[in-house]
Amino acid sequence: MTRKETKIIEAGREPSLHAGAVNIPVYRVSTVLFPDVETMVNEAQPYTYGRRGTPTTRALEEALCELETGARTVLTPSGLSACTLAILATCGAGDHLLVTDSIYGPTRLFCERVAKRYGVTTTYFDPHIGAGIAELFRPETKAVFLESPGSYTFEVQDVPSIAAAAHGRNIAVILDNTWATPFHFNAMAHGVDLSVQATTKYIGGHADIMMGSVTANAAYKDRLAQVHGDLGLCASGDEAFLALRGLRTLGVRLKRHQESATELGAWLKTQPEVARVLYPPLHDDPGHKLWKRDFTGACGLFGIVLRPASAKAVAAMIDGMKHFAIGYSWGGFESLILPAHYHRSIEFPLEGPLLRLHIGLEDVEDLKADLVSGFERLRQTA
Ligand SMILES: *Cc1c(COP(=O)(O)O)cnc(C)c1O
Repeated sequence: MTRKETKIIEAGREPSLHAGAVNIPVYRVSTVLFPDVETMVNEAQPYTYGRRGTPTTRALEEALCELETGARTVLTPSGLSACTLAILATCGAGDHLLVTDSIYGPTRLFCERVAKRYGVTTTYFDPHIGAGIAELFRPETKAVFLESPGSYTFEVQDVPSIAAAAHGRNIAVILDNTWATPFHFNAMAHGVDLSVQATTKYIGGHADIMMGSVTANAAYKDRLAQVHGDLGLCASGDEAFLALRGLRTLGVRLKRHQESATELGAWLKTQPEVARVLYPPLHDDPGHKLWKRDFTGACGLFGIVLRPASAKAVAAMIDGMKHFAIGYSWGGFESLILPAHYHRSIEFPLEGPLLRLHIGLEDVEDLKADLVSGFERLRQTA
């Protein structure tokens, strides 16, 4: 069997169909022409309309599907629309949805505002629940939405135990797999039915695209494709081209992100200003055991809980950074830092302010020096 390191290089490529080009070109398409009425009526050709796929978007779908070991992948205009599509494909009026309390904030807002208005009830559960999820199942429960590790707080979930409880009851298991990417967590092999990816992040890898994907197994692929089509979702050829280009270097980039993040995470733990580092690859992280059991690696995104400090001191620390920039998103080549703002139903106790760091591909000593002077500014500001 071809290994994933090779798969990301070869998947979705067919140079002989594109004048020998190694990278598939960008197809910009709305209208696709048919040779005659019969072909049109029977849809007897591979491409029929821009929204329904082009050679560029299909190459990316095939590549992601192969990497996710799923049955079908569809592309969406953002990672968030991939999350909401997975919910819309599995839940309808009168249904119940279980969502991890560590969910990406905007996905929570979709549940609170849109899904609720369309008659879907959401219950949030402790990310550490594991097989205990079974106690929350109701006859009308249709899906469980997981994210591991969780946004901002990085709890690792026992995905196989949750999936085992859901299976046999006709409950779909959805996982937002953006942090690990399909490269480091094989969602399908751990019992997930629908794997969601914000390709905006590491698959794009260069902070210049917006796109998402949902991959389904055989049981959910037709429903996913149908709802995706009915909602009119699609992704542009330019974004798909850049995502394919990013995918080719995903393995080497993630290796470097993980190495630097592990080094800086371990060092941060020894700093007097830091109460805790939230990064599952670190040996004493509460999620380390599960991470080691289920994942093949990590990315460069983690949290740090500071000892009590004023908002002004935290702002002084962050504002003066030379290499860490302030901004949303992550998964690009550059380092980022921000103060975390999140909403939880179940309390997540913190010793002090929570920061989120994305460790980019810069020299790790430069990043460390940046943090050293950041802590100096933190100490000097009341
Ligand atoms: C960023 C992110 C998303 C949303 O992706 P966008 O492309 O920004 O819409 C979804 N899930 C997680 C875990 C994310 O970090």
